Amino acid sequence: MVSNENILQMIQGKKTLEFFAPKSDEVWVSETFYSVQGEGKYAGVPAVFLRTQGCNLLCRWPCDTIPVWKEGRLYSYEELYKLWKRNEWVGSFEKGAHLVLTGGEPMERQEELTGFLTFLRDKGLGSFVEVETNTTTSPKPSFDAFIQHYTCSPKLSNSGMPVGRRRRVEVIENFIENDRAVFKFVIDARSDLKELLDDYIEPFGISPSRVYLMPEATSEAELREKSIWLIEICKAHSFNYSPRLQLSIWNRLTGV
Ligand code: SF4
Repeated sequence: MVSNENILQMIQGKKTLEFFAPKSDEVWVSETFYSVQGEGKYAGVPAVFLRTQGCNLLCRWPCDTIPVWKEGRLYSYEELYKLWKRNEWVGSFEKGAHLVLTGGEPMERQEELTGFLTFLRDKGLGSFVEVETNTTTSPKPSFDAFIQHYTCSPKLSNSGMPVGRRRRVEVIENFIENDRAVFKFVIDARSDLKELLDDYIEPFGISPSRVYLMPEATSEAELREKSIWLIEICKAHSFNYSPRLQLSIWNRLTGV
């Protein structure tokens, strides 16, 4: 487990994720499980989730995954593949399940993940690969070559992160040019709409068809209450509404 002291130093920019860097055939994993995609464009699609450990942000509101990404262990590529095979998830890929690379922040672990995706390809295992990112790091070509879909989730001020850390113009522009990317924003209050329009939609010219709005919520009841007004906002601006199936079905945020 990563210590609180290391987490704090990482958030302050004094340490990078390299302080728990793996060897060339290993990847730090917080959790891996088989479920359905709970959010965004592919909500409802069967998917194996691979949550990498660590994030370069520390959102306040609350980040559902901080307790998860502080945990974790090193897996060799072979070990992870055998785990998936034992659980019969490898067969699910063959039937069309997606692989979802999420975190923490998987874009901070591109090197390890590129190695793992190459390893899977060499085993003859191909799958539709989704990445969920906080949009502060651009993909490298070798990583990008494996990815079919990006869910980019730039953070608003409701995250509690300073704007200079969470809003990276060049990275957002890079993903705008990538037609495999959509943009998902977490909306906490109706007042977030102005910031969303002023800081993201208008300056970057993001097409409404590529925008997904998802309620910030930590319980089923809160999700239901916010969904009602958020759907009206989506209708007014022709944005897509994103469910949170983990909450609405299991009343949990992770691991389902
Ligand atoms: S960017 Fe995502 S994983 Fe990282 S702290 Fe914020 S909500 Fe959590």
